Amino acid sequence: MTQDKLLDGKAVANRIKNQLKERVEALKINGVTPSLATILVGDDPSSETYVRMKGNACERIGILSKKIHLPEDTTTETLLETIEELNHDLSVHGILLQHPVPPQIDERLAFETIAIEKDVDGVTSEGYGQTALGFGTYPSCTPAAIMKIMEDYDINPEGKHAVVVGRSPILGKPVGALLLNQNATVTTCHSRTIDLASHVKHADIVVAAVGKPEFIKGEWIKEGAVVLDAGYNKGNIGDVEYEGAKEKASLITPVPGGVGPVTIAMLLKHTVVSAEKSIVQ
Ligand code: NAP
Repeated sequence: MTQDKLLDGKAVANRIKNQLKERVEALKINGVTPSLATILVGDDPSSETYVRMKGNACERIGILSKKIHLPEDTTTETLLETIEELNHDLSVHGILLQHPVPPQIDERLAFETIAIEKDVDGVTSEGYGQTALGFGTYPSCTPAAIMKIMEDYDINPEGKHAVVVGRSPILGKPVGALLLNQNATVTTCHSRTIDLASHVKHADIVVAAVGKPEFIKGEWIKEGAVVLDAGYNKGNIGDVEYEGAKEKASLITPVPGGVGPVTIAMLLKHTVVSAEKSIVQ
């Protein structure tokens, strides 16, 4: 594949992070150190890795990373208390609850407890509603990353047929809303969709958010389509059959190095924006 087909998420992420470094410095001059609190409940190794990666990314650009690790048997009540404390902690600008949480916890209730002004990961229903209506401050980070990649590569969704495969609250649904807000014609597919291939075959833009390795086949991709693969499965494999898809696509995100790094960069950006707003308020 020629390199000019590649949507290089690492490069997009590096540009964002370099700009953020300057904003973090400016905040520090004003006596504010941006801070992201991450809450990990239990010992799931993948979740531990994700939280560590996010913490390290924060520290590399000068954002303080406050890591809270709660035991596997944490109750919903204890988790809500922890979130409430962080809501009231003026030194914390963003709160990220790593999911999934253990099954005894009411995850939706925990998400809803995060104060909207600290919901930098875009998990509350209020944040989702604002995103859908077009005035959200912190859209979910992966949908925001997908839109940012398109913006950086001058891909205008207006009038295009976008097919989103997946409808999760943090990914499929909000990315569909963001695409619609930019005047794409959006089809959202899910596990009950009949004849998924026929939908994907008509897409100018394909967003893969399924969570199944190489589930979207290269032969389904329309000639010249743009493919954004948010999937991240064991063994660094995306949701799109990359080798086949890259032959048909005009532009495609690799896995790794596509949507993933930009997702983290968007989380950092939202945290910095929240810290900046704390000065203005
Ligand atoms: P999720 O909550 O499990 O949602 C998966 C979606 O795929 C659901 O809407 C489901 O439909 C749909 N689906 C499942 N089987 C299907 C099938 N046979 N045909 C069509 N649709 C089907 O997953 P998620 O949290 O949205 O994550 C999706 C992927 O993105 C995962 O690989 C995850 O690791 C990755 N991810 C990446 C990042 C990043 O930073 N790059 C961040 C978050 C997630 P139903 O609603 O009908 O069940």
